[in-house]
Amino acid sequence: MGSCLFCKIAAKEISSQLVFEDERTLVFKDVNPKAPTHVLVVPKKHIARLSDSMDEDKDLLGHLQRVAAQVAASLGLDSFRLVTNNGRGAGQTVDHLHYHLMGGRTMEWPPG
Ligand code: 5GP
Ligand code: ZN
Repeated sequence: MGSCLFCKIAAKEISSQLVFEDERTLVFKDVNPKAPTHVLVVPKKHIARLSDSMDEDKDLLGHLQRVAAQVAASLGLDSFRLVTNNGRGAGQTVDHLHYHLMGGRTMEWPPG
């Protein structure tokens, strides 16, 4: 996916503030944080959004949640929110699957 922003970050063509990396996953700081801790949990595989994932991605999707939990713990977060925006109407602006991991403040519910 030549023009995809998060593919370029995963390929290190665009720099980011990396928090965690393994063979399938990247976690980096959101450039426009909405909470004291706001990182993005991103698969290196290009999947445009959660609804484009396939059964073959089940293990990867589970892995992303484990990585999120482990990164949250490593950042000292007991309470946190993990959310993905699926589609423009939900607020998705980057068409590469990512989970927002946010913490460090009290979260409101429901989100707007
Ligand atoms: P979305 O709106 O698609 O759910 O989330 C995209 C997120 O990516 C936003 O929170 C936005 O601040 C973040 N973002 C956009 N461009 C960049 C970038 O170049 N670097 C980083 N680190 N974050 C970005
Ligand atoms: Zn991509």
